[in-house]
Amino acid sequence: MNQRDRQWKTLQSTPEWDVVVIGGGASGLGVAVHAAASGLKTVLVEREDFAKGTSGKSTKLIHGGVRYLQQGNIKLVREALRERGLLMKNAPHLVSDMKFVIPTYTWWTRLYYGIGLKVYDRLAGKLGLGKSNFHTASEAKGFLPGINSRGLRGGVSYHDGQFDDAHLALSLVRTAMQYGATVVNHCAATGLVKEGRKVVGVEVQDGIRGVSHTLRARFVVNATGAFSDSILHLDRPRHKPIIRLSQGIHLVVDRKFFPGDTALLIPKTDDGRILFAVPWHEKVILGTTDTPIDEVSSEPVPMDTEIDFILHHLQRYLEQAPKREDVLSAFAGIRPLVRLSDKKTSELARDHVIRVGRSGMISVLGGKWTTYRKMAADVMRKIESRSSAPIRLADTRMLRMVDAGNAPRAASIERMTEDEVRGWIAEEVEHSLCMTVDDFLSRRTRQLLLNARVASEQAPFVAECLAELLGRDAAWQKEQVDSFQSLALNYLPQTSSKPPNQ
Ligand SMILES: Cc1cc2nc3c(=O)[nH]c(=O)nc-3n(C[C@H](O)[C@H](O)[C@H](O)COP(=O)(O)OP(=O)(O)OC[C@H]3O[C@@H](n4cnc5c(N)ncnc54)[C@H](O)[C@@H]3O)c2cc1C
Repeated sequence: MNQRDRQWKTLQSTPEWDVVVIGGGASGLGVAVHAAASGLKTVLVEREDFAKGTSGKSTKLIHGGVRYLQQGNIKLVREALRERGLLMKNAPHLVSDMKFVIPTYTWWTRLYYGIGLKVYDRLAGKLGLGKSNFHTASEAKGFLPGINSRGLRGGVSYHDGQFDDAHLALSLVRTAMQYGATVVNHCAATGLVKEGRKVVGVEVQDGIRGVSHTLRARFVVNATGAFSDSILHLDRPRHKPIIRLSQGIHLVVDRKFFPGDTALLIPKTDDGRILFAVPWHEKVILGTTDTPIDEVSSEPVPMDTEIDFILHHLQRYLEQAPKREDVLSAFAGIRPLVRLSDKKTSELARDHVIRVGRSGMISVLGGKWTTYRKMAADVMRKIESRSSAPIRLADTRMLRMVDAGNAPRAASIERMTEDEVRGWIAEEVEHSLCMTVDDFLSRRTRQLLLNARVASEQAPFVAECLAELLGRDAAWQKEQVDSFQSLALNYLPQTSSKPPNQ
C-alpha cells in the first residue's frame, strides 16, 4: 500500500473531522499544518495535485513587495517582511536570500528608489536580509552581467527571499502529515452537506478510483484560490462572484542571456508594473504580466501578447535579449484577487480576506505565498472563536518544516541517470503522494517549468517507473504520456506570434 492509499483509507475510516480543508495550495496547506499542530483532527482534499494551481506558478519570491511600497501599502509590506523573516528560519532549505538590482538612468530615479528601499530595510527591522545600497554604473554592470549599459547611470540594490513554490508546498504536505493531518491529492470536493443552514460536511470524489465519500466536519475551510467562487456557489446558489481573475505569466530562458547571480528589477513597464529577471535553478525566470481574464482553468495558457510583452521589455535592458525560440518554458498562473471595488486588477490589494458564510463555512481569499502562515493563523482564530469546545492554538511562528534540516532539493533530472530518476520517483510516491507523470515532472521536479521539451522527452520513462510502482497497466501508461505531452505543448510558445500567412 502506498502513502496515498494510506491517506485515503484514513479519510474513509474517520467518522468525524474537526476541520476539512478544500484546496491544496499555499492557503489550504497552511491551514492544514496549523490545524493539525493545534491538535485538531484535520483532513485536506486537493482536486488535482498540491500546488497544481497558482501556488506552483508564482514568481518564486518571498518578499515584502516593493510594488506595494510604491503604492503606499505599508501595513501589507511590514506584515510580509515579518513573514519573510520567519520563513527564512522555518524553511531554510527552501528559501534563500537573493540580491536584486534596479538599474537607474537618471540621478533622480536612483535617489527615488534608493530612499524607498531604505524604508524597506527599516520596515524589515531585525528580520532584514541585508542592507540596500547605491551603486555606480560600473558596479551595477558588475552585478548584472548582460545588462545593456547604454545610458546607465547607476543602480540600487536590495535583498529579498527566493524559493521553490511547489517544493515548499510539498514540505508543508509532509509537515502536515507529521502533525497527524490526513492529506489527499487527486480528490475533489463535489458538494457540501448541510443540516438546516449549517454546513456539516463535504462530499468528495476520489480521482484515482472514481469512488465518492462523505466527510463529516465541525469546520469546513474553502481554500480554493481562483476557484473559490465555485465552492461559495455550492454553499449558496445565489452567491455573486467576488474573485477577480488576473493572469500572470513567466518565461524561463537559459542563463547565457543573464549570467549573474543577482536579480534584475525593471521598475516600470509600459503598463506601470515591475518586471523581474531572476536566476532560478540554473536558469532565469522572466515575468510577470497582469492580464484580466474571465475564465478560470487549472492549466491557464500564456497568451502571445503576454509573451511578446515580456520579451519586448527585456530587449530594452539586455545586450543579448532572448527571442521566442529561446524560451525553454512559459507558464501561467491566476491571481485570485478579492473584488472589493471596481479598480483595475493591478491596483487591487494583494491582501487576504477571511469570510465566514451564514452556513459557517470559512473562505480564505486572496493573499500571497509570502503571507500564507499569517493567513492560516487568521483562519484558525476564526475557528477558535466559533468552536464550542476549547482549542489551544499552536504558535506557528517558530514551527519548522519537518524536512528543514535537509539539503536543498534538486529540480531537474536533465543530468541524472535512469537509476537515479527511478529512485527519486519511488521516494516521491512514498513521501509526497506522487501519482502521475505531471505530479513528478511539474512539481516533485520542476522539469516542465525549466525545460518543457526535456520534460516531454522524459515522460515515457517516468510513466514506466510510476506504472511499476503503482501497479498500473500499459493503457494507463500510454494515457499518462499522451496527456502530459499535450500539456507540455502549452508550455512551448509558437516561434511566431502571427499565423504564417499573415
Ligand atoms: C503570476 C503570479 C506570480 C506570483 N508571485 C508571487 C510571489 O513571487 N510571491 C508571493 O508571495 N506570491 C506570489 N503570487 C501569489 C501567490 O502565488 C498566490 O496568492 C497563492 O499561491 C494562492 O494560493 P491558494 O492556495 O490560495 O490558491 P491555489 O494555489 O490556486 O490553490 C487552490 C487549490 O484548490 C484546488 N481546488 C479547486 N477546486 C477544488 C475542489 N472542488 N476540490 C478540491 N480542491 C480544489 C485547486 O486545484 C488548487 O490546487 C503570485 C501569483 C501569480 C498569479
